[in-house]
Amino acid sequence: MTGQVVRHTMDLAGTDVPVIDITGAADGPQLTVISGVHGCEYASMAGVRRWAAALDPARLRGRVRVVPVLNITGFRARAPFVVPQDGKNLNRCFPGNPDGTLAERLAHAAFTEFIQGADGLVDAHCGDMVEALEPFAMYEAGSGEGRARALAEAYGLGYVMRQEPGPDRAVGGTTSAAAAAIGVAAITAEAGGCGLVEEDMVALHVRGLGRVLTAMGIADADANGAPAGAGEPGAAEYLGRFLWLRCAQEGWWEPAVVAGEKVAEGQLLGRVHSIDDAETLEELRTTTDRLMNSLT
Ligand SMILES: [Zn+2]
Repeated sequence: MTGQVVRHTMDLAGTDVPVIDITGAADGPQLTVISGVHGCEYASMAGVRRWAAALDPARLRGRVRVVPVLNITGFRARAPFVVPQDGKNLNRCFPGNPDGTLAERLAHAAFTEFIQGADGLVDAHCGDMVEALEPFAMYEAGSGEGRARALAEAYGLGYVMRQEPGPDRAVGGTTSAAAAAIGVAAITAEAGGCGLVEEDMVALHVRGLGRVLTAMGIADADANGAPAGAGEPGAAEYLGRFLWLRCAQEGWWEPAVVAGEKVAEGQLLGRVHSIDDAETLEELRTTTDRLMNSLT
């Protein structure tokens, strides 16, 4: 048995989704890797594609299922954040609904096909078309969280966040939350953004995916798809929670800080101006006010 790679297209809720199924030469766990849950997150798609192409099935123990672009209709339409047919964020729809709208049916199909039965899940993201971010990985509190935490640290993005149910929870219906709910060790890994394919961000995903493969015991370090010398990740800095700030009025956003900048309480983050630039409508400052945080 030498293992095999099968590249095919699957009908998921009526959309044709490209899939790479890699079966190793020996038995072992199953890792599912998804990207393109959001249609314009190109850095993570690029990392996942490059990593999958570098894997040699003869040197793997177990199975790797790779979905480079899950939200294929959003990708084709260059539509950020949503499935264009119903305007829903696919990463708020898991585990999905077989009788729902397209995003809900696609979530259900992907959950059933790729997440159920897996031992591990990496959902690789970056900022979408108009979104800059500092790289981080996230996992869910719960019964399987020890294994998920190990994968989040292995990915090596510097910051790690543990998501807990409750008032501080940023979002529900994500791939990794739905996976964690059925005991799958799952992480969401974010690096890159703004519709760009930046080499350093792509490389973060390739290295992270390789380390996850090794952490799960599917591949040795010299056969995990990461370039030689990728080494061990540095110590992760743990983040407590998200603070989502919302502006009250629409307009033209002009940031006063850049992604990754450390900010102090009360610091100016940016201003909302009228489209014609006649007036400043709002100033947004850092706050730890829970009322602001609950507006999601
Ligand atoms: Zn995303």
